[in-house]
Amino acid sequence: MSAEIINGKLIAQEVRSALKTRAESLIERGMRPGLAVIIVGDDPASNIYVNYKVKACRKVCIHSEVHRFPSSVGQDEVLACIQDLNENPQIHGILVQLPLPAHFDSNKVTTSIAIEKDVDSFHLYNVGALVSGNAALLPCTPYGILVMLDKHGIQIEGQQAVIVGRSNIVGKPMSLMLLEKGATVTICTSKTKDLAAHTRNADILVVATGRPGLITADMVKAGATIIDVGINRLPNGKLAGDVDFESVKEKAGYITPVPGGVGPMTITMLLSNTIEATERTRAGS
Ligand code: NDP
Repeated sequence: MSAEIINGKLIAQEVRSALKTRAESLIERGMRPGLAVIIVGDDPASNIYVNYKVKACRKVCIHSEVHRFPSSVGQDEVLACIQDLNENPQIHGILVQLPLPAHFDSNKVTTSIAIEKDVDSFHLYNVGALVSGNAALLPCTPYGILVMLDKHGIQIEGQQAVIVGRSNIVGKPMSLMLLEKGATVTICTSKTKDLAAHTRNADILVVATGRPGLITADMVKAGATIIDVGINRLPNGKLAGDVDFESVKEKAGYITPVPGGVGPMTITMLLSNTIEATERTRAGS
């Protein structure tokens, strides 16, 4: 039997509609949520992502502003901009579009963002909070995946979860979040011997490698939940995930497509974190 498709686009619409209501309620009480995005250089992919974010903010009544710098800008100038935004009461979320040019120290930049405005949750304090199970704002991509699992009533506690990829933005936080929810977690990397032996054990398999078609049907357990984070542009111009969707969907229980799976949820959770950060400011004021 073919797997149930986890439609990220549909879930994102549902979540965004609820977020709009929360934003409107904040606006009525005189506090419009505000997100500031900092972009350095002219990387076309980064520009596309930033435009998506701005458009998405507009649709749920979040104020957004973009601070653009040429790639030749000095780090201190960007740090000064972040400092201004940290002190700006109209801004509740700040994100720096990564990657930054090579002469930047990304950790120093993300760690200069006020902890309570760190809507990407890359600040080292927030990373530590996640490790200790005390995170206030969760990293957007894994957070979106948890929401998708929840919407489909997929059990996490007691399940075997296998994460392929150990990046700071997807693999590592995803593993911590699933661990926190009671899964038994295995993390695989490019150095893992016999990847298939691990993936075949997974009740929940999250793949974030950037290697198109890495996971094939023989590598998954029948009935498993397959979350494909990968976004790869193929030579024919089409987008593909890290999972061979056509074959795996015949064996899995649930599967996310690419596009239309994890991607729309990532931006949605950024909106969610911005609203959450605004509500917290209000609660604390
Ligand atoms: P990174 O390049 O930072 O990390 C990739 C990880 O995959 C590394 O840990 C690497 O292992 C591992 N890996 C690579 N090849 C293999 C292999 N053959 N077997 C097992 N593990 C392997 O990637 P990101 O996490 O930033 O992104 C991964 C993918 O997800 C990309 O396609 C990206 O575009 C997409 N993405 C999608 C998002 C969304 O919203 N849908 C958000 C963020 C990313 P090692 O550490 O040993 O090198």
